[in-house]
Amino acid sequence: MPEDHKDEVTPFEAMQARYWMAVEKLDLDRGFAKILEQPERELHVSVPVVMDDGHIEVFQGYRVQHNTMRGPAKGGIRFDTNVSSDEVRALAAWMTWKCAVVDVPFGGGKGGVICDPSSMSAGELERTTRRYVTRIMDIIGPDRDIPAPDVNTTAQVMAWVYDTYAMHTRQWHAGVVTGKPVVMGGSQGREEATGFGVYISAREACKVKGTSLDGARVTVQGFGNVGSWFSLFVHNVGAKIIAVGDISGEMHNDKGFDIPTLKEYVRKHRVIEGFEDGEVISPDEFYGLECDIFAPCALENAITSDNADSITTKIIVEGANGPTTPAADEILKRKGIHVVPDILCNAGGVVGSYLEWVQNRQGMSWDKETVLRRIEEKMVESYHKVYDARERYDAIMRIAAYILAVKSVADVATLRGIYA
Ligand code: NAD
Repeated sequence: MPEDHKDEVTPFEAMQARYWMAVEKLDLDRGFAKILEQPERELHVSVPVVMDDGHIEVFQGYRVQHNTMRGPAKGGIRFDTNVSSDEVRALAAWMTWKCAVVDVPFGGGKGGVICDPSSMSAGELERTTRRYVTRIMDIIGPDRDIPAPDVNTTAQVMAWVYDTYAMHTRQWHAGVVTGKPVVMGGSQGREEATGFGVYISAREACKVKGTSLDGARVTVQGFGNVGSWFSLFVHNVGAKIIAVGDISGEMHNDKGFDIPTLKEYVRKHRVIEGFEDGEVISPDEFYGLECDIFAPCALENAITSDNADSITTKIIVEGANGPTTPAADEILKRKGIHVVPDILCNAGGVVGSYLEWVQNRQGMSWDKETVLRRIEEKMVESYHKVYDARERYDAIMRIAAYILAVKSVADVATLRGIYA
């Protein structure tokens, strides 16, 4: 993504801009609105780790609980060099709105550690995870705040989160974290849940636009958990993925990538770089490619005022959180591009996490078909709820989703009251 525009606005400012548009439309009391805008709690921790060569690193970590009116905080843990307090704050707020849009009984939380997992050994990652968990132990728990995977954190990392919590509490608390390996209480279908939800969003968007995924030309930025699963689902129904991009660069194949082969390549090599069945292109060429669907599935601020004009697509499905800046929203709206916003589009992940948490509490496990069917039902219902609200409030999809979410949290907050 364009380096110059990473700070077009910060992720939290991008969230605030949309939030206040929704507040205006709802005509919420301004004082009351200030409560829901700000995080309830932020924890900044230092995470000392003895590295393999014996030297000590002190990583900085965060856990933010944005709002817990509708339920315990819920949100992933990100390990990345770009993690910052502002980013984690934004991601936590997006979780609040996302859980409200798809109506799962959670609030919004998020965590992150500033580190570069690509340069760390498995042992260093494990020690970082465990020390970070002990630092945030006081505020997480199955009824308080439930972490999950995000950028650069896997089911293995969730297993360490679970184990560290269990060792300290001396109790079995499967619901303290979601996205766990299936053998230790993880849910069938959780791994692919987010990409699956993005696929359902794309399918519903195609329906309202009078088109189809079969034969659609698709470009995907980010080929990690979300991007690769989304690609596989749409590939399986006849879409052609003509370009992919990740941290290592961008690639084009006009006939469409063979996604199972590319997915296997990335599983082995971590990045798309070196995959033979495609030509390397520049970021500008990637953004300029004509396609039917563009799926940003990497990081924030991918679509900015710098590149939005060059994007030629009918539909954007936001697999990533916060990929589009407010300035870019205006340009995409002018171009008539149908954007399925992050807080709706990638909610399949949190629905999958919710289903895992429910199974953990029941001591039951459901098969993959049941889990994916339930995610599909939630995504279809939520997509059309937002689509209808867009007409009712004369707003783009993103603001319509914020309106529904903010209203839902505000209604509960009104009933509960401010307390003292
Ligand atoms: P991941 O770590 O599995 O994959 C991230 C991908 O983004 C990788 O392919 C990486 O190479 C690419 N990437 C990183 N920096 C990039 C850059 N500067 N330019 C281009 N590509 C870059 O992470 P993920 O879990 O797939 O998450 C991706 C996005 O989806 C994030 O915004 C995350 O918050 C969001 N999300 C994830 C989930 C989930 O369940 N994992 C749920 C909802 C939303």
